[in-house]
Amino acid sequence: MADIDELKKSAMGEINAAKDTAELGVLRAKFLGREKGEVTKFLRSLAGMSIEEKRTIGPKIQKIKVNIEHALVAHGKALKTEAAHETEGELSWMIPKIGHLHPITETVRMMNEHFRSMGYSVMDGPEIETDEYCFKRLNVPEDHPARDMQDTIYIEEPKFLLRTQTSSIEARVLEKYRPPFRIVCPGLSYRNEKANKSNHFIFNQYQLVVVEEKVSLKDLFGTITSLFRKLYGQDVVVRFRNKYYPEVEPGVGPDMQCFNCHGKGCGVCKGTGWIEMGGSGIIHPNVLSMAGIDPKKWMGFAFGLGLDRWVMARYNITDIRTLLGGNLAYQYYVNEGTL
Ligand SMILES: [Zn+2]
Repeated sequence: MADIDELKKSAMGEINAAKDTAELGVLRAKFLGREKGEVTKFLRSLAGMSIEEKRTIGPKIQKIKVNIEHALVAHGKALKTEAAHETEGELSWMIPKIGHLHPITETVRMMNEHFRSMGYSVMDGPEIETDEYCFKRLNVPEDHPARDMQDTIYIEEPKFLLRTQTSSIEARVLEKYRPPFRIVCPGLSYRNEKANKSNHFIFNQYQLVVVEEKVSLKDLFGTITSLFRKLYGQDVVVRFRNKYYPEVEPGVGPDMQCFNCHGKGCGVCKGTGWIEMGGSGIIHPNVLSMAGIDPKKWMGFAFGLGLDRWVMARYNITDIRTLLGGNLAYQYYVNEGTL
């Protein structure tokens, strides 16, 4: 039965070469069709054969019929999977990516994750604050210029205002929780400022507060440096300078070597080679006392950073207004006409 072996060979070849399911349908009719199918014709020819021939050839033809049936189904499945993948590919190419997380959100999440891994809790507080939590409990003297209307946006003078810093959350946490604790608080702050390239009346801050039995400046430097490395890589260069902030004693301000000129001096760093990245220090004993925490038993450090500036340094953004502008035309304005 050379013919039947030939038939099997050509059937398999044609089925595997079929490019779509329609072609497979034609091949099914060609080989297995009830009237004119080639395998059917062979089966019919059995009628004129001897019993011996029927016994040897009959099962062989049946087996070939099953093989062809299996080949048709298997190749059909393969074609469908292929088509599905192609459609998927086409669709993912055709559908434009719409939206992504805001760089601030992305950075805040990354920072929260970093500090959670070090045992910190993420906290929040009210944006409309009282003079007490925004200034008084942070050791800001009555005559401090920060309390001036020129800097602070008051809702109802002199008591209610929009918080000028996330340190107000620190004041609330110190009052509500008993040490030891480690917390971070991202949040919006407001100041009565005219928006320009580097300042905005709405801005994001990120506050860090640790109160434990014993802390040192070394712990503070280590914590801040770990954040710099997380966001800007291991090679980031940071320096700490003495600063005055009423809520800490001593106060230190971390500067990062300019991401744009690497210390040479440029427009972004105003020619200094360094960018101020926030304020920090050992929490003033007065601040702890006002919150009912014994400063003889507990110590703490705090760090407040202007988040917008950190994000700008990460993404090479040179105008703070870009972070709040959803208007593409505004982007062009921000980039000073580079269309
Ligand atoms: Zn620079």
